[in-house]
Amino acid sequence: MPFSSFGSDLNYKLESHKGQGEVDKKLNIVCVGAHPGDPEFGCGGTLARYADAGHNVSVIYLTRGEAGDPSKTYSESAALRTKEAETSCKILKAKALFGGQIDANTELSKGSIDKITQLILSQKPDILFTHWPLDTHPDHQIAGLLALNAWVKSGQQFFLYYYEVNTGSETLEFKPTEYVDISAVRERKKAAMFSHKTQNPEEVYDTFFKAMEEFRGLEAGVKAAEAFILSKVKNERANIIGL
Ligand SMILES: [Zn+2]
Repeated sequence: MPFSSFGSDLNYKLESHKGQGEVDKKLNIVCVGAHPGDPEFGCGGTLARYADAGHNVSVIYLTRGEAGDPSKTYSESAALRTKEAETSCKILKAKALFGGQIDANTELSKGSIDKITQLILSQKPDILFTHWPLDTHPDHQIAGLLALNAWVKSGQQFFLYYYEVNTGSETLEFKPTEYVDISAVRERKKAAMFSHKTQNPEEVYDTFFKAMEEFRGLEAGVKAAEAFILSKVKNERANIIGL
């Protein structure tokens, strides 16, 4: 379904059935991350749940993680991390796409906004996930702002959810508005995260994501959750359930 035909009826269903996985139509879910691993760590559980519910899930990696390892050339790192991203997407039942920018040198410009907007809209998103732009990593800021610009250019015709990564170290000032229960897919999310072997995933998980999933779970009243900040479709902002 093209984003332009995304109707208020479906919006209502998304809102009123939040967390129950009940929508009549197959949704296109698109997730943008700066580096291989960011989407999986930030919202891999939510992506797995969407895929399991029969929706299309695409992950756009802005870069291929070229600059992560000073002992390797950019092309060596990119090859390794592309493979890790593809393995991880297979576990999540998602499609891996790449935005063509370079790690640690990402750009926010008219040209880069046009290019990433075209890529995002080519997937006809009903829901777009991306980095919360207040983040200590410039690539995360830029990935978040590129996705925000694509959403603005689309006329704000789909739901935009910001995810957090390494809160306490990278994501800043994140006050969630939405939660997704990932208790049932926690092990699968972990397998997707741990596919990024070059990123020391066990330590990153133990230091940040285990605590984050459990704390967000406490806030949401479930065992483990992912948290988001939601920007709604434009014509849904003044609505509240029951009125
Ligand atoms: Zn990153």
